[in-house]
Amino acid sequence: MLADRIKVLAPSPTLAIQAQAKAMRAQGIDVISFGAGEPDFDTPERIKEAAVRAMRKGQTKYTEASGIVELREAVCRKLKRDNGLDYVPAEVLISCGAKHTLYNLAVALLNPGDEVLVPAPYWVSYPEQVKLVGGVPVAVPTEEARGFQVDPDRLTAALTPRTRAVVINSPNNPTGAVFSHDTLRAVADLAVKHDLLVVSDECYEALTYEGRHVSIASFGPEVKARTVVVNTCSKAYAMTGWRIGYAAGPPTLIKAMGDVQSQVTSNPSSIAQWAAVEALAGPQDEVAKMAGEFDQRRRVMIPGLNAIPGVKCVTPGGAFYAFPNVAGLFGRRWQGKPLQGSADVTAFLLEAARVAVVPGLDFGSDAHIRLSYATGLATIQEGLSRMDQAIRSLSP
Ligand code: PMP
Ligand code: GLU
Repeated sequence: MLADRIKVLAPSPTLAIQAQAKAMRAQGIDVISFGAGEPDFDTPERIKEAAVRAMRKGQTKYTEASGIVELREAVCRKLKRDNGLDYVPAEVLISCGAKHTLYNLAVALLNPGDEVLVPAPYWVSYPEQVKLVGGVPVAVPTEEARGFQVDPDRLTAALTPRTRAVVINSPNNPTGAVFSHDTLRAVADLAVKHDLLVVSDECYEALTYEGRHVSIASFGPEVKARTVVVNTCSKAYAMTGWRIGYAAGPPTLIKAMGDVQSQVTSNPSSIAQWAAVEALAGPQDEVAKMAGEFDQRRRVMIPGLNAIPGVKCVTPGGAFYAFPNVAGLFGRRWQGKPLQGSADVTAFLLEAARVAVVPGLDFGSDAHIRLSYATGLATIQEGLSRMDQAIRSLSP
């Protein structure tokens, strides 16, 4: 009954684990969730007020399919203010979250068989979206010992005549890596040389703890002309439920993505768009405040993980994820059976410690698990202590 494309589609494991933890809690099971990457903060009041104002004013109708011009202008001003980038509203598309932005892009860009380089570990949706439109995701490994920096030589080695695009996600989900200036420069040069589109997912820009966020599009007109900058209100403004993401890029491609959107969803919620104008254009102090709190949590989460025997975690420079290597636990026995991969470790932690994490396998690395620390300090401490206890009780 179902289309062939569904046979190769994996549903979002990050959302599935969040749902599983929620269902367990509803049954009265005390589970700590380090599953979904979603800020625990409430959306700032000034943004909610803007939504209320929009409703009162009757801004409750269809808008331009690509987003209201006020929001596209606010995005242009944001890109100038924070990234030094010049765009005009015709080069901006507003979508229902960056996930939707990226899917519009896949539909508009890829022919069946076209290849997209996806540095691994990667966010779960990149390969699935490419596959959904008949493209071929090509995972290009990074090295943990080099802090999961993208390796331009490996990208070059993975090129074929079918390569159309490369995905750059810094700060990175799931590793938290912030790519260095040199890394980004090398990727930019490679894209220009080989005529590739750069998909720069900058959704975690505001959560950069070490160094300053740099957009690869700012490396000169040649790079900018072949880059789509993707960003969202979800993380910086704790607006995951409002579903506002955006893209800025070459006008022909942005128009094509908008055309796709016009036939599939039409505009994102008019009310959420007006809230996003306030988010992007209003005072930005709460962004830095939330980022400061995430940083504090990072400083508890990472040493806490490294204190657990068999667990080793690189210090992330951004986002709100820890991506510890748990290969040190493989072979240890739980309920008589050896733990053999990230799915086993995840199942063990959920059952034995009542802690929900996401298996690294879904992000392209079976030696790791992902923990989101977008949750309160007390929860982090309790979760770490439960994990420590459960892991110490494993048989050798
Ligand atoms: N890109 C990355 C790297 C993400 O982790 C996420 C998930 N929040 C998104 C894009 C999509 O976010 P949203 O659809 O909420 O804007
Ligand atoms: N991006 C977040 C995560 O990785 C939210 C879930 C999702 O969109 O997949 O957990």
